[in-house]
Order: sequence, then structure tokens, then C-alpha cells
Amino acid sequence: MSIGGAKKVVDMATKYANERLQFGQPIGSFGAIQYKLAEMAIRSFAGESAMYRTSQLMQDKKAAAAAAGKTYGQAMLEAAEEYAIECSILKVFGSEVTDYCVDENVQIHGGIGFSEEYPAARAYRDSRISRIYEGTNEINRLLMVDQLFKRAMKGQLDIVGPAWAVQKELAAMPSFDKPEGDYAEEKRAIADFKKIILMTAGAGAKMQMDGKLNLKEEQEVLTNVADMFIDLFAAESMLLRVQKLAGIHNKPQAQEVYDAMLQVFLHDATARITKNATDALASFAEGDLLKTFLMGVKRFTKYPPVNVKEKRRLIAGALREANGWCF
Ligand SMILES: Cc1cc2nc3c(=O)[nH]c(=O)nc-3n(C[C@H](O)[C@H](O)[C@H](O)COP(=O)(O)OP(=O)(O)OC[C@H]3O[C@@H](n4cnc5c(N)ncnc54)[C@H](O)[C@@H]3O)c2cc1C
Repeated sequence: MSIGGAKKVVDMATKYANERLQFGQPIGSFGAIQYKLAEMAIRSFAGESAMYRTSQLMQDKKAAAAAAGKTYGQAMLEAAEEYAIECSILKVFGSEVTDYCVDENVQIHGGIGFSEEYPAARAYRDSRISRIYEGTNEINRLLMVDQLFKRAMKGQLDIVGPAWAVQKELAAMPSFDKPEGDYAEEKRAIADFKKIILMTAGAGAKMQMDGKLNLKEEQEVLTNVADMFIDLFAAESMLLRVQKLAGIHNKPQAQEVYDAMLQVFLHDATARITKNATDALASFAEGDLLKTFLMGVKRFTKYPPVNVKEKRRLIAGALREANGWCF
């Protein structure tokens, strides 16, 4: 529901940006407006990618359960339980993407965006509830991390093994090899995001086991971890979709436009993950231990800088040419 709304709003904003003239030219020709159009599209595309991915995973799980003789209801429940974390991610990310889009859409509409007689104001008002109902976004963020730790405790998910592997990697010399192959930098960035999350959550869990931290009382830290999950899942879903699109010939846009969306998202996600990991680690570690963790953060945020200005102009150009959502 949220992503559908976001796409509709990108459509509305693009049409208005093409139509409204200021200083003798369409406002869509201004860089500041192109930034907004592109960013709205990138986030909506990321949300849509995560949604398609989760829907397919749930459908597959449901089909497997049904094939094993489960009733329709049992099969649905199994799929929902298995992908509860992904569903929380979609709820939070989807509603926040839409809120971003409806807000920028009002801005692109200027004064008339504020008038209740125009659709931009209606979208702005209607969207706001999504961060509150169906479990507030605060509660869904806490649920994501809670679910992860519960599964680890029950032995359903191994996070301790991979967390140890990251610790070992941190103690070794960093590799200076350049990744090779298609989307090699992007694949490495995703692998590195996982390492940062494992390092941060693993450090928190270790402190908890040593009796130095009670994570239940540290909602700020849990929220930092949840925000890293969201960025990771959205970025990875985008990468998987963009890789698939690379093999399709009759797609709606040129591959360089999809690549640009992925690259801008990864560029920004790298900065957000750096901040969330730093905030979380500095909340519970100090001295040499904190220094070691922060070196880890630096080591695992090596995605090369992207000319985000040019990439966003390319994406906005595609939107403006199609006069609406076109991905
Ligand atoms: C238009 C609309 C439609 C709705 N439709 C339905 C429906 O169909 N079915 C239904 O069951 N409900 C529905 N609701 C209710 C909705 O689910 C609740 O409003 C929502 O769950 C939040 O509960 P609350 O309003 O009591 O806020 P509160 O629980 O008082 O929350 C207030 C704030 O405190 C935060 N907060 C609360 N507890 C914690 C905590 N432990 N840790 C951190 N932060 C916390 C919340 O995240 C929020 O920011 C609807 C609400 C609206 C406005």
C-alpha cells in the first residue's frame, strides 16, 4: 500500500515539475528539484525491490508447506512466521519512503501543495498514519532485533559463528584486493554491511552475556541496529533486482539508470550505516575496545564514492522524459 502510494506521488511530482514554469523554464530543469525527483524514485524502487523479494520468499515457503500437507491456514502462518523480520522491515521502510515522497511532493508543488484542494496535500495527510498503525515503527524496529536474538538463542540462526569470523578478520591484515566482475563493488559493499551489523550486534550481545549491558534497556542501540538491517535488506534487494534487470533486453529503462539508482542508494546507505554503527558502539564501548570497533567500521565501509549529482540528474532525466514513474 505504501509503495503504491509512493510511486503514484513520484508520478504526480514529475508531471507537475514538467508543467510548472518559473523563471521561464519548467521547475524540473532545476538541480534542486531533480534531486528530489530522483531521490523519491530511488527510495520507492528500493522499497519495491524489498517487497517483491519478500513476497516471493513467502510464496515459496507457503507452497512448500502446502506441498508437505499443511492446510492453507497453517502454510500462511508458517510463511508469516519465517519472514516476520522482513515484514517488519517492509512496514517501517515502506511507510517512511512514502512519508518522504509525500513531503517532497508538497515541496515541489510549492504553495498549492499546502492547499487541501489539491491532491498533494491529501497524499501528505493520508500517508502519515502508516508510521503509526500496524505496529508503530518504533515497535517494529524493536521487534526486528528481538526476533533475531530469539532465533539465535533457540539455535535457529547462527549469528555467533559469523560474528566470530568478523572478529578474526578484524585482527588480521586488511586485504587490498580490488573486487572483480560484474557489480563486484556492490556485492562487496553488501557483504561488508553484514560484517558491520554482526560486529555491532555481536559486541552488544557479548556485553550482555558478560553482565555489562541490558539490551532491553538500550532502545537507542536496538534502533541503530534495526536501521542498519533496513539499509542492508533494501540495498541487497536492489542489487538482486538490478542484476536481474541487467539480463533483460526489453526493460523500461536503460541499465545505466538502474545502476545509478543502486549506486546512489549504496553511497548513502554506507554513510547511514557508518553513523548507526558508530552511534551504537560508542553507546556501550569505550577506550581501546571502542577504537578497535571503529577501525572495523572504517574497514567495512569502503564502497567507492559516487558522483551522486550526475547519477541523480540521469534518473530525474528518465522520469521527466517519461513524464512519470517509468521503472
Ligand atoms: C486511522 C487509524 C486506523 C487504525 N486502525 C486499526 C485497526 O484496524 N486495528 C487495530 O487493531 N488498530 C488500529 N489502529 C490503532 C493503532 O494500531 C494504534 O494507534 C497504534 O498501535 C499505536 O497505539 P497507540 O495509539 O495506543 O499509541 P501508544 O502505544 O500510546 O504509542 C505512542 C508512542 O509511544 C511509542 N511507544 C509505545 N510503547 C513503546 C515502547 N514499549 N517502546 C518504545 N516506544 C513505545 C509509540 O511507538 C508511539 O510513538 C488505528 C489507528 C488509527 C489512527
